[in-house]
Amino acid sequence: MENDKLLSVIIPAYNEQDMIATTFEAVKDILNKNTIPFEILFVDDGSSDATYSKIAEFSTSNPEIRGISFSRNFGKESAIFAGLENAAGACCVIMDCDLQHPPATIVEMYRLWEQGYEVVEGVKSSRGKENPLHTFCANRFYGIISKVTGINMADASDFKLLDRRAVEALLLLPERAPFFRALSSWIGFKTTSVSFEVQERTVGTSKWSMWSLTKYAIRNITSFSGAPMQFVSLMGWMMFLFSIIFAIHSLYRYFTGTALEGFTTVILLLLIIGSVLMISLGIIGHYISRIYDEIKGRPRYIIHKRCGY
Ligand code: UDP
Ligand code: MG
Repeated sequence: MENDKLLSVIIPAYNEQDMIATTFEAVKDILNKNTIPFEILFVDDGSSDATYSKIAEFSTSNPEIRGISFSRNFGKESAIFAGLENAAGACCVIMDCDLQHPPATIVEMYRLWEQGYEVVEGVKSSRGKENPLHTFCANRFYGIISKVTGINMADASDFKLLDRRAVEALLLLPERAPFFRALSSWIGFKTTSVSFEVQERTVGTSKWSMWSLTKYAIRNITSFSGAPMQFVSLMGWMMFLFSIIFAIHSLYRYFTGTALEGFTTVILLLLIIGSVLMISLGIIGHYISRIYDEIKGRPRYIIHKRCGY
């Protein structure tokens, strides 16, 4: 196996015990058929089911498989970075364990890499079957993210191929809460994309709840942009303008002798100013807590077990 051709397939897996075998077979078949040398690196993200024992079991009979297991659930981004740090290949592909990312596309990505591309982005040609609320929120989220990053992320996915140079560049980024999907464009390099059709998940369920998606959206927007903080100043200036108008109005009433009504105005002003201040403090607080998280400098993940080494 020549090492400068080796493809590392990184597969984050969280409670995917029923998918390990199927995914492995599917990837192995297609890569063998195309004579692409590969290794598969499963990253068990602290699953509570038999995911890791399945990986360990397969790794004893298949030298291409390696596995890493986290001490608890650290999230998909952490699993991706653990995979990148531990991959041996000259290029790495990141794919989901549920086969929603079709293995055939890996071959297409690999061929583009052979032509000299260093980042090959998998772009969704359709979003697969989702509920409409999910699609709506996802569209809003990607709208904001695209705006702040200046990169069109509407159909971006985590399904990508990265050359070793791009991997090294990504691993140099020190942030504790990386947003892989956007960072892989942020690093630059010679980039192209392939489109793929999102497959339906056949086994198990999506690991995302509405609440975890909301947290994910807020975290990633704030990790890429300080715009919400500027929103705070914008609100401040708007309130200031508002208060000038009101000041002139009140003074006018004072001098024309028609003051003393206007309690409604006072109550309204108190409410508006109060809520704007609280929202603003909340936004600032959120950034401070992000700074706090970063400054603690804790590792992105903790590895508990390995197999196939
Ligand atoms: N995943 C993970 N850690 C998590 C959640 C998900 O490693 O905390 C993995 C999961 O096993 C799968 C991939 O990330 O391989 C995508 O997850 P899922 O299919 O649940 O997300 P969706 O396709 O619905 O966006
Ligand atoms: Mg999925």
